[in-house]
Amino acid sequence: RFITLEGGEGAGKSTQLKALAAALRGRGLDVVETREPGGSEGAEAIRALLLTGEADRWNPRAEALLFAAARSDHVDKTIRPALERGAWVLSDRFLDSSRAYQGMGDLGDADILTLHQIGSGGFAPDRSFFLFLPDGEAERRAHDRDGGAADRIGGRDPAFHRAVADRFARIAAQEPDRVRSIDASGERAEVTARLMEALDDLLP
Ligand code: C5P
Repeated sequence: RFITLEGGEGAGKSTQLKALAAALRGRGLDVVETREPGGSEGAEAIRALLLTGEADRWNPRAEALLFAAARSDHVDKTIRPALERGAWVLSDRFLDSSRAYQGMGDLGDADILTLHQIGSGGFAPDRSFFLFLPDGEAERRAHDRDGGAADRIGGRDPAFHRAVADRFARIAAQEPDRVRSIDASGERAEVTARLMEALDDLLP
């Protein structure tokens, strides 16, 4: 099975991915943990192009193409081979992040889906978890982490993060079979339990 964790920054995706992987291994499953952008040698090289340098290093179209290229390599080299040998694959971000982030400027959702069709044949997760935090909670966490720095997360203002959250919410509403929105507030173990419960129908 191919499972993705999505959502804005500060919701604890990476922490929950590790915890979910451990829980699934506890059930005897072979689990591969991966992430985007990256997850294969070529895609990690593209990650370095995307995440270093000035924020406006790439125009929005070039950026969307780079994400799609990285994803194409990631699917081919890492995700499909693991699924073919029977492993479960958990990815920290995937296509829905591109729909939310790159699909919000010059390009719309249909463009991002077209790029994914070209790059990866429309390859889709079996389940995608959208981790969300109640209003203000992401800011509180960022504040605690950065020792009081900011109401800005990742250097971006609250309006940006609200727009991303709205995008994710729209995708969740459009694809209720694939997507589960998960409240990421509370204790870590509680959030992991919510994820496991929302996977119940897929577990062997
Ligand atoms: O939260 P995470 O560390 O996974 O994301 C790293 C950064 O990459 C975030 O700032 C996010 O906004 C950005 N990103 C993006 N488009 C994607 C995936 C990540 O802009 N498709």
